[in-house]
Amino acid sequence: MKYSLATIAQLVDGELLNSTSEPITEITFDGRTAKPGSLFIPITWGNDGHNFIQGAIDNGASATLWAADHVENQPSDFPIIIVQDTLKAFQQLAQAYLKEIGPKVIAVSGSNGKTTTKDFIATIASTMYRTVKTPKNLNNELGVPLTILSMPADTEVLVIELGMDHPHDLDSLSKLVTPDIAVLTMIGEAHIEFFKTRARIADGKMEIINGLKSNGVLVYNGDEPLLIERAANLTFQTKTFGLSTDNQLFASQITLTDQKANFTTNQMKEAFQIPLTGNYNVSNALAAISVGQLLKVPANLMKTALQGTIITENRTEWIAGNFGGQILSDVYNSNPTAVREVLKSFSAIKKLNRKFVVLGDMLELGTAGPELHASLATDVIDAKPDAIFLVGPLMQNLADKIANQDSQLTVHSFLEPEIDTLIKTLQAQLQTNDQILIKASHGLHLERIVQALTK
Ligand code: ATP
Ligand code: MG
Repeated sequence: MKYSLATIAQLVDGELLNSTSEPITEITFDGRTAKPGSLFIPITWGNDGHNFIQGAIDNGASATLWAADHVENQPSDFPIIIVQDTLKAFQQLAQAYLKEIGPKVIAVSGSNGKTTTKDFIATIASTMYRTVKTPKNLNNELGVPLTILSMPADTEVLVIELGMDHPHDLDSLSKLVTPDIAVLTMIGEAHIEFFKTRARIADGKMEIINGLKSNGVLVYNGDEPLLIERAANLTFQTKTFGLSTDNQLFASQITLTDQKANFTTNQMKEAFQIPLTGNYNVSNALAAISVGQLLKVPANLMKTALQGTIITENRTEWIAGNFGGQILSDVYNSNPTAVREVLKSFSAIKKLNRKFVVLGDMLELGTAGPELHASLATDVIDAKPDAIFLVGPLMQNLADKIANQDSQLTVHSFLEPEIDTLIKTLQAQLQTNDQILIKASHGLHLERIVQALTK
């Protein structure tokens, strides 16, 4: 981006003091990374961002926004734009820039699979268009405008991930990005603490259409009845994808290996391969293919793109263990749907010796937590591991449920302070060619187990 300070002041309805002719070429919230050309935006998140303005000035920032209710310590000789609300001003600026550049906007949301799908879509789109995607996982009210403002002026397609922690997050993010194509990957239980039911999560996710352009298209997972119901009477064009044959685009002949998935579709002759395993990743790829079709990308280009996609934050990774076997590490994010899916793919891969599963608590499920943990009993039993290790107080609900189901499965339960004991137990048991899945919410820090079993 490149704007004069006077233009920015106008775009954000601000009052400009001590103007400079230096153009603004980037935005920063971090005084330490400020440099000539930077506009510092003080965002108050825990710490008041105005406290870092002096640091930004010291590092050569060209100008700063300033909230009108912060009267104290305003420098008298530095370019400042006074606004009512700095976050809102930042979003207004992003919106104006987006409108000026005018790329096709593809917004991706869903309880799980957003980042993966965003990466698939972006590699497909970039075979034909100058494409920009959300870096990493920057999917909230700050990351979305930051992504927009980082776009080069010649961008043709913007693939942007929209996160949702609370009701109406997607309403405002969708209105900010005004998508041409909105994608919903799936509905799970993430953030059910704030939404109470899956139906309300689905309502929240459907807000992605609130900013959809009138000729826009909603691409959604048609394996989810809650979405089918909600998309039934829309005035927008819709497209469904999924594993069931009721979808417009569906996969057949899925074969999974430990690191890859192969599949064909009902609409193209190409056989596709993705560098990730799991039926759920096939579903994410189908979402991306549906978007590719709307962007008129030929199937052979999509095939090459999908195969070579580099996933930004591939949090499910196979790592060689120091016991001579393999670890499927997925310790940064957990919720019931994701556990079910990863258990399915873990049980589908070829067994080399024994298979172990370590599951830690799934956090942020609110009062539904105990029941949702217990609800995984059948999935765990069906995955037929040789033993399961559960970590955390909530997982005790799953341990109890499994015990009541009278299965042959050996369950070992641990609380968080006992992680060292668990590590010793695993080290004593694991043998060559054993395969072990480790999954939990990041708050449990089960990466400690992964580290102990790899170093
Ligand atoms: P976040 O909310 O943290 O941004 P995300 O929606 O971007 O997550 P990804 O980063 O793509 O999701 O994937 C995170 C995890 O979710 C994966 O490691 C996998 O366990 C699970 N997952 C991914 N896609 C799906 C899907 N379609 N259905 C169910 N689970 C999925
Ligand atoms: Mg993500």
